[in-house]
Amino acid sequence: MQEKIIYSETVEFLRSAIKRETGFLRELEEYARLHHIPIIQPESAALLKLLVKLHKPQKILEAGTAIGYSACIMSVAMDKPGIIDTIEIDEKLVDMAKKNIKTMCYDNCIRVIWGDALEVMECLNSTYDMIFLDAAKGQYIEYLNHALRLLRPGGLLVTDNVLYKGLVAQKDKIQHKHRTIATKLKEYLRLICSHERLETSIVPIGDGMAISLKKGD
Ligand code: SAM
Repeated sequence: MQEKIIYSETVEFLRSAIKRETGFLRELEEYARLHHIPIIQPESAALLKLLVKLHKPQKILEAGTAIGYSACIMSVAMDKPGIIDTIEIDEKLVDMAKKNIKTMCYDNCIRVIWGDALEVMECLNSTYDMIFLDAAKGQYIEYLNHALRLLRPGGLLVTDNVLYKGLVAQKDKIQHKHRTIATKLKEYLRLICSHERLETSIVPIGDGMAISLKKGD
């Protein structure tokens, strides 16, 4: 199975060229690596931070908190202290994320919600300036309906892992265990690229990131 969507030399080069995190955020990267917790890849994190700086959201919704790494990097990138609601299904990770967020002194701005992202999104009614989808890849299509409802016109939808180790673009037979996710992601990409309310670009960075702007009313 193809492991990366771009050549490893290019990934290595990108990681050496971009400014990397330091201090506690670097410690979180190391913790995630050692404990096999999937967090956003450094080059995708750099793009995510830049998107936050350019779009200047005051309120962000994230699906998939893990240990709170991406929520913290988005908080750092927000120029004025805003609000991030982040949803995580794994109770142990929720506790860990809350601890890490407190260490970063972001516990007043980042609210960790324990639950299934789809069920939580169904209950949300507030409006967000930006939504970052990074939870169950097989459910992105279901998240999309709620993301469109919760995102303000002009809001930004960012979706990680959309190329899924290159398998989404693979023409050869995909191993059974990955086939369903790859098929669903392909359909998700078709939907966000053809949606009349979205302007979408797919960036082959990290595990593939889709950036969609919700058009105004
Ligand atoms: N955004 C995090 C970061 O970059 O620091 C990484 C998130 S990780 C790729 C995906 C997370 O989604 C995992 O922690 C997993 O437990 C969580 N997850 C998986 N299915 C979920 C679901 N149905 N609802 C909420 N969270 C879910």
